[in-house]
Amino acid sequence: MTDTLRATEDTAADPGPVPFLDLAAQQAEVADEVLATWQQQLVTASFIGGVEVAAFEREYAEYIGVEHCIGVGNGTDAIELALRAVGVGRGDEVILPVNTFIATAEAVSRVGATPVFVDVDDEHLLIDPRAVDAAVSERTRVVIPVHLYGQTAPVEAIESIARRHDLIVVEDAAQSQGASSAAGRAGALGRVAATSFYPGKNLGAAGDAGAVLTNDAAVAGVVRELGSHGSRVKYVHDRVGGNSRLDSVQATVLRAKLRRLDGWNANRRAAAARYAELLADAPGVRIPVSRPGNTDVWHLYVVRVDERDRVLDGLAAAGIGAAIHYPVPLHLTGAYRDLGYREGQFPIAEASSSRILSLPMSPHLSSAQQERVAEVLRDLTSAGAAAT
Ligand SMILES: *Cc1c(COP(=O)(O)O)cnc(C)c1O
Repeated sequence: MTDTLRATEDTAADPGPVPFLDLAAQQAEVADEVLATWQQQLVTASFIGGVEVAAFEREYAEYIGVEHCIGVGNGTDAIELALRAVGVGRGDEVILPVNTFIATAEAVSRVGATPVFVDVDDEHLLIDPRAVDAAVSERTRVVIPVHLYGQTAPVEAIESIARRHDLIVVEDAAQSQGASSAAGRAGALGRVAATSFYPGKNLGAAGDAGAVLTNDAAVAGVVRELGSHGSRVKYVHDRVGGNSRLDSVQATVLRAKLRRLDGWNANRRAAAARYAELLADAPGVRIPVSRPGNTDVWHLYVVRVDERDRVLDGLAAAGIGAAIHYPVPLHLTGAYRDLGYREGQFPIAEASSSRILSLPMSPHLSSAQQERVAEVLRDLTSAGAAAT
């Protein structure tokens, strides 16, 4: 009796270090079935393409609710191939939010087009449709809503702007596997969507992987050709492509994890609700809220605090893994200096970049761990509030 009580108290008082994301716990859940299939693959030596890849593509297309899923090498390639497949190239402009992972912009640059950055909305830090409308020019061909942090971007509003200006919507769904809004599931809302299965995403492989999703059979065909040396039939090369394919080793992991994705996303939603409760009255902590009608999959749980760097250091000192997504808005990175943007041009993204803080979030986060995070965070932000 005393022992049981003690054990409970100990866990509650000190859950130990809290990792930003507990990937080992995810692997442990799927290890047995993955290892059995990997063993078969070593024997049959089926590594590129093959039944596991085809099965995953079918299952993921069905899960998202689109006709075609084409597995590719990674998420950055997925965006690039999606852009090339809809005909974007040199001289074209592509509108994207300035608060995203740099890969969204890199893909635009790699097809020879020019990234045109727009600000985000203060409430959700997602691409702002009004800013998109204002940024459209004669040369705009595509707009990329990024479903950031596990939320669905306001695609309905963007679709109506796109229709008015004859633009193509290409979704960046790398952070939103399983998310949806009133309009439907993220990844099924534009002409074509790109996603990433980088290990840390909600649906992650055991290495690099990605996919392109679409209902457009012609686009699907071009993506598949481009990713396989421009050929449909071996050694018949109809266009200059490259090499970007999903392999069997990754497809096996993805199939096992896809079966658990809804459960894992539900755990993330429960964890987000618990954080919201624990942090409701924490001084100086602005907690994230989901867009109305959204089923958020909480890829990241991003709060905003004053003196963010001091708070981040304090969390690290207490063994809590926190991070920043993203510390520098894209227009202020060295990579995009040459585009000629100025500081002050995207006030919301710029102001939030010094305040955002991603707390530990994963399907396997325990309530004891969350209580610990909230307690340390509250101490750190109260100290700041007291000093001012
Ligand atoms: C991860 C990510 C990508 C790129 O995916 P990779 O598989 O790492 O190439 C693109 N966009 C966003 C928003 C991402 O989070």
